[in-house]
Amino acid sequence: MFDLLVLGGGPAGYLAAERAGHAGLSVCCFEMRELGGVCLNEGCVPSKSLLNSAKIYEHALQGEPFGVLAKGIALDHTLVQKRRAKVVQTLVAGVRAKMRANGVTIVREQAVIDGFVPGGVSIRAGDSVYEGKRLLIATGSSPAIPPIPGLAEGLETGFVLTNREVLTLPEVPERLAIIGGGVIGLEMAAYYRAAGSHVSVVEMLDHIAGPTDRELSDLLLSEYKAKGVEFYLGAKVTAIEDGAVRFERAGSAALIGADKALLSIGRRANVHGIGLETIGVELIAAGIPTDAQCRTNVPNVYAAGDVNGQSMLAHTAYREAEVAVNTMLGKKDRMRYHAIPSVIYTSPEVAGVGHTGESAAAEGVAFESRKLSLRYAGRFVAENEGDGLCKVLIDAAHRNIIGVHIIGPYASEMIWGAAQLIETELRVADARELVFPHPTVSEIIREVLFEFDD
Ligand SMILES: Cc1cc2nc3c(=O)[nH]c(=O)nc-3n(C[C@H](O)[C@H](O)[C@H](O)COP(=O)(O)OP(=O)(O)OC[C@H]3O[C@@H](n4cnc5c(N)ncnc54)[C@H](O)[C@@H]3O)c2cc1C
Repeated sequence: MFDLLVLGGGPAGYLAAERAGHAGLSVCCFEMRELGGVCLNEGCVPSKSLLNSAKIYEHALQGEPFGVLAKGIALDHTLVQKRRAKVVQTLVAGVRAKMRANGVTIVREQAVIDGFVPGGVSIRAGDSVYEGKRLLIATGSSPAIPPIPGLAEGLETGFVLTNREVLTLPEVPERLAIIGGGVIGLEMAAYYRAAGSHVSVVEMLDHIAGPTDRELSDLLLSEYKAKGVEFYLGAKVTAIEDGAVRFERAGSAALIGADKALLSIGRRANVHGIGLETIGVELIAAGIPTDAQCRTNVPNVYAAGDVNGQSMLAHTAYREAEVAVNTMLGKKDRMRYHAIPSVIYTSPEVAGVGHTGESAAAEGVAFESRKLSLRYAGRFVAENEGDGLCKVLIDAAHRNIIGVHIIGPYASEMIWGAAQLIETELRVADARELVFPHPTVSEIIREVLFEFDD
């Protein structure tokens, strides 16, 4: 009997397996596709590889003001895809090697929870049954497929793509319709627009980028429009036909023609067909409910990553995996969800952590906010022609930092520092005493702190 069975080899599953193995537990991890899960194979990593190619290409195109006069600049999609495949392969191999180095048994099969056995649970995979004292469910998530007429047929014919297919398309579609203007849709819009597609985004809300600070999402919208991406906001897709997406907006029906359509309206926890009912794991609409230690309602059964529906980000999955394993090992640990950063890796990047003005108002938190153009940061001016924005929110009573939102270069690399300010509940007066390296774009956070009254 293993000390721990891990169902799923994505960020939550592989990290939990690695950490538990490192701590001396005997671990068996089941993965039916590829180790690394959605993140490494069809999510975070391949998308960032494509986006970086788009960024380098755009920088080259815009080199003149910087004295860089390049000729014959082109984005070669075939080479971009070749590099994407190599990056994924390298990282997946790294995950496999680390798991093996920590003594994890890897079973490359679809696995199903079979029920309780004396002292633990059992899992059936292929022709074998495995027993474990503890179980971590880390089956991740899949694209949400709404009941839109023609959608199922579109997925079958290949006209409609999900994240899996769009990241590996061998050719750039002439016209790409994107259903859903959230992070995944926007990142793919950025890449395929740079690669030459005519891109249209159909979004049900009246704004893009979901829960992103509204002022930043409006700025991002302007940037995308300037790049030639077309937006249909407040638009509900009503049908999909071969070569067209039909939608309704402000009471009128409309249609856009496309060579491919990307479905990116959200993701659903993978909770069906994995035998949860055999051991009585509770289920709610978002996924498997868990407490701050990632425990489910069943003793010794944990759930981490997208499957618990809490945040659906790879770095949340990593932390949840650590919290679950620490709890198994009897170490005190807990999840804190209020300072988890989120990033949109487009050009410009958008990164935020903590409350937005909208979320603070909705929760009745009294706050103050201040903002500055990134042009107040010397390095930004030295390296960029355009503009960006940094906004900071503080709790009006306690004067600690509760939100930081940035649109501009390096936002993704700066935001972890902002998360520390929130996580440690630093007050403005104390945060002002921190020294930031100069010249960096990150100094803008410090500048904004000085915009608040003492
Ligand atoms: C296009 C895209 C871009 C993204 N970009 C980012 C980003 O930049 N940053 C970020 O933080 N997040 C990003 N995400 C989200 C991120 O990928 C997920 O949050 C993360 O992968 C969740 O990890 P997980 O371990 O919970 O699940 P997953 O990565 O989904 O892994 C679950 C694994 O379990 C396996 N599995 C499921 N059921 C079984 C079974 N019955 N038997 C055996 N194996 C099974 C699956 O095959 C899968 O490999 C992105 C997602 C997408 C789709």
